[in-house]
Amino acid sequence: MDNEKKESTSFSKGLLQSEELYQYILGTSVYPRESEHLKELRDITATHPRAVMATAPDAGQLIALLLKLINAKRTIEVGVFTGYSLLLTALTIPEDGKIVAIDMNREAYEIGLPIIRRAGVDNKIDFIESEALPVLDQLLEDPGNENGFDFAFIDADKINYWNYHERLMKLVKVGGIVVYDNTLWAGTVALSEQSTPEAMREGRQRTLDVNKLLAADSRVQISLAPLGDGITICRRIL
Ligand code: SAH
Ligand code: CA
Repeated sequence: MDNEKKESTSFSKGLLQSEELYQYILGTSVYPRESEHLKELRDITATHPRAVMATAPDAGQLIALLLKLINAKRTIEVGVFTGYSLLLTALTIPEDGKIVAIDMNREAYEIGLPIIRRAGVDNKIDFIESEALPVLDQLLEDPGNENGFDFAFIDADKINYWNYHERLMKLVKVGGIVVYDNTLWAGTVALSEQSTPEAMREGRQRTLDVNKLLAADSRVQISLAPLGDGITICRRIL
């Protein structure tokens, strides 16, 4: 019974044991501070069949805080979907800031794009419709891009997180930040393989692997913050 309860809550969007507590945080500290354009994008996204993929607003709020703290100007976004985290970043970085935003599927981005345009920040976005890995490699071909980015948000294609990390440790400067999303994989990292729903087992294993690698990586200072579906914040120190 207890186990059943635990599982049903851990697969909801928030990882907190109490849905009420999560709603309290959103209602008190997150939604009242969310810009109208972000709210509009979140509402439109909620009607999309894959809405659960969108960045959790509480995680987004921390990302915006991090962007401000390090004064981020040039950023990378891997995994755009309808653009919640992208719009959040574009609204947060300065007028002359630039985001390289990569997604292999432009369709969902088209849903958010009119709102991003209305928010007046589309000029900061360089959207590239492609698999992310070759784009990162292409960026690295230009030596001017080495240490050329302040921040990256990685939210796609968990199988490649470590491959992205190796590239980002060259693209993002020392003192810059890389945030990886979904690093608690709906809480399954703390379940046994058998009690993990079959469709989530592979993702669970990849998440376990990448979490271990990040924890052992002396190039970064880390914090796995249990917001949204878990975000691992890495500050490059070497
Ligand atoms: N950050 C987004 C959510 C991203 S969902 C938000 O805030 O809403 C993950 C996205 O990654 C999807 O849109 C999917 O098309 C994209 N994706 C999956 N594999 C990819 C890959 N190999 N390269 C680039 N994008 C990928
Ligand atoms: Ca995500």
